[in-house]
Amino acid sequence: MKTLVWVEHDNKHVKDATLATVTAASKLGEVHLLVAGSGAAGVADEAAKIAGVGKVHLADDAAFEHALAENVAPLIVTLMESHDAILFPSTTTGKNIAPRVAALLDVMQISDILSVESPDTFTRPIYAGNAIATVQTSDKKLVITVRGTAFEKAATSGGSGTVEAVGGSGDAGLSTFAGAEIAESTRPELTAAKVIVSGGRALQNSENFHALIEPLADKLGAAVGASRAAVDAGYVPNDYQVGQTGKIVAPEVYIAIGISGAIQHLAGMKDSKTIIAINKDEDAPIFQVADIGLVGDLFKIVPELTEKL
Ligand code: FAD
Repeated sequence: MKTLVWVEHDNKHVKDATLATVTAASKLGEVHLLVAGSGAAGVADEAAKIAGVGKVHLADDAAFEHALAENVAPLIVTLMESHDAILFPSTTTGKNIAPRVAALLDVMQISDILSVESPDTFTRPIYAGNAIATVQTSDKKLVITVRGTAFEKAATSGGSGTVEAVGGSGDAGLSTFAGAEIAESTRPELTAAKVIVSGGRALQNSENFHALIEPLADKLGAAVGASRAAVDAGYVPNDYQVGQTGKIVAPEVYIAIGISGAIQHLAGMKDSKTIIAINKDEDAPIFQVADIGLVGDLFKIVPELTEKL
């Protein structure tokens, strides 16, 4: 089986989310990569070094600079004439392109896989991760998104793939890139961080969130996350949200501060290796998944903890 992996990148470097997708693809067969970008030859060279990669298709065109689904999907459809499966990381952009490819190929998309059972059978979470479905497909071409936390990351070195230029159909004329507002941060990226400190509604406002959560995160070299309630209340930007409708994370340590542990929040972090919860309500559901629980007032505990570290 010949598989193609869409490489997530910023036209300079391969993004981490690609690596777990490569591992998932390697369970299906021969792995080829697609780097669609603008001025992205360096990305293709980097991608060719990923362990286990055979060929890297490089489509270098201004139309692919911002990974607009309307431009990238027709390119993938052309490449699917010589591939059996296309895999995307379950990231915002991956999840944007995949359904369009599936529609153009007239197949079902298999979303957010957790494992490859056989070339046509996969597991995936349903009901916010409370049940795992085993799905079998009879489609001839597979369009799959991969949950990054479920697969080991492929090594970034050791591969000896060859880069081959491919022509794309260019700008489909269906969409244009208007701009991006990306929060600048010197902290680790949420989905790649080893430690995450997350705050919830209990922080009460943005000032408290920044004054309590950030110093603790800085001491631990951690990324900062938040519950949806904290995001909706405007304490922090949307891209901090962890959960079913936010980011799925599985760090070594996840510290939930003033977060109740609603099912939709747990769906995004319950696979973390060690969960530490700080909550004043000893019956809060977060304690059901926590390895270490501190019952008390976060306004007292968090400054004390930060100071002692
Ligand atoms: P609350 O539920 O209000 O909990 C606050 C907690 O802080 C309480 O447990 C309280 O005991 C504790 N507390 C209060 N004061 C203190 C104090 N001084 N010291 C210590 N502890 C204190 N939520 C997400 O997080 N992510 C998602 O992706 C997400 N997706 C959703 C999708 C759908 C379709 C729906 C319907 C909901 C979704 N939600 C999501 C919302 C979710 O249901 C909860 O409403 C939300 O997670 C609650 O956030 P919270 O725990 O910060 O707030």
